[in-house]
Amino acid sequence: MAVMSAPAGGSRPFLNRRLAAFGTTIFAEMSALAARTGSINLGQGFPDTDGPAEIAEAASRAVLSGRGNQYPPGPGIPELRTAIAAHQQRFYGLTYDPDSEVLVTAGATEAIAASLLALLEPGDEVIALEPFYDSYAACIAMAGATRIPVTLRPSADGIFSLDLDELRNAVTPRTRLLLLNTPHNPTGAVLTGAELAAIAELAVDRDLLVVTDEVYEHLVFEGSHIPLAGLPGMRERTVAISSAGKTFSFTGWKVGWVTAAPALVSAVRSAKQFLTYVSSGPFQYAIAEALALPDDYYASFRADLARKRDILTAGLTAAGFEVYRPQGTYFITTDIAPLGEKDGLSFCRALPERCGVVAIPNAVFYDDQEAGRTQVRWAFCKRTAVLQEAVERLGRLAR
Ligand code: PMP
Ligand code: GLN
Repeated sequence: MAVMSAPAGGSRPFLNRRLAAFGTTIFAEMSALAARTGSINLGQGFPDTDGPAEIAEAASRAVLSGRGNQYPPGPGIPELRTAIAAHQQRFYGLTYDPDSEVLVTAGATEAIAASLLALLEPGDEVIALEPFYDSYAACIAMAGATRIPVTLRPSADGIFSLDLDELRNAVTPRTRLLLLNTPHNPTGAVLTGAELAAIAELAVDRDLLVVTDEVYEHLVFEGSHIPLAGLPGMRERTVAISSAGKTFSFTGWKVGWVTAAPALVSAVRSAKQFLTYVSSGPFQYAIAEALALPDDYYASFRADLARKRDILTAGLTAAGFEVYRPQGTYFITTDIAPLGEKDGLSFCRALPERCGVVAIPNAVFYDDQEAGRTQVRWAFCKRTAVLQEAVERLGRLAR
């Protein structure tokens, strides 16, 4: 079909006002740049090695034996909902009823979209920790709500942290929801028990809903992941979101989920049913098996990534970047100012040409452009040899 050059029906643009500010996602742009230039892609966060073969075989068995090839049940297959509830119990001691308190989604991305579309009225304010994952701003906009950023800033120890007073001051009578992400992409910050307790107190005090994006829950290198839903007063007001993509290295399968009290799950399901209705049929069977993998799996996955974090941290430091040590996730945020660079976006666009590596400019995750202008994010979920080669290439920047 030919692409129309002028909008039909007058001069009105096709893309509505809510989405007009959002161009192509930075991940698509930078992965295309990596492919075009044959660069090492430390931009988009996906592993270059697939997850466990036994889980891939479980998916293949499901397809071949006809399980999940037709529309699965709207809330997700019972086996997966049961496995998700068992996971919450096993790792956090949280009890959820698989039938009324668990919802399977098309990745965390759909869970975020469905939650915001279901829970927000136009004009509501949503507080999100800046820099924020790109889909948050778009989904808040699609819901007709307003985002209020609270900026994480590096403290003297080189770790990003949350200013609790800033968070408290951001709450207004219009605030409906806090959208939290811990472990935090792109900074690698992990909210502490004390920070989460203060957030819980604020949410109860101001009667706020909280949506927690916990997709990196199993990637914590320092401290531990604490689900907010387990804190006093939070169970009935928290929609917890996670996904199999990161934990099991199958980002293309798009199996995510929500755990929350029945009334919240039911609200989110109302939106979800009109977004995808259902998804990932056979993969749901495989992820049900993945969630039940022994503790060893989770521990060695984390240990492997901790080693990779150290390789890339050392390489980026040697190359002259200021490195903010991530406590979790598989990303490192750096500052390019010590290299005499002033703009992360231009730096990232030129980097393939300069040394054959792709990274992500954090500025796209900020409303406050100045705060993020010289920050650049690097993914370390890649094979060791690839990271070593990237480090070698980045070393040229310092020479
Ligand atoms: N939230 C964050 C913070 C992410 O980094 C990502 C990317 N994986 C997602 C949500 C989306 O997860 P999924 O691929 O399961 O949709
Ligand atoms: N979550 C991944 C990242 O932050 C990318 C996912 C996507 O491309 N939307 O790199």
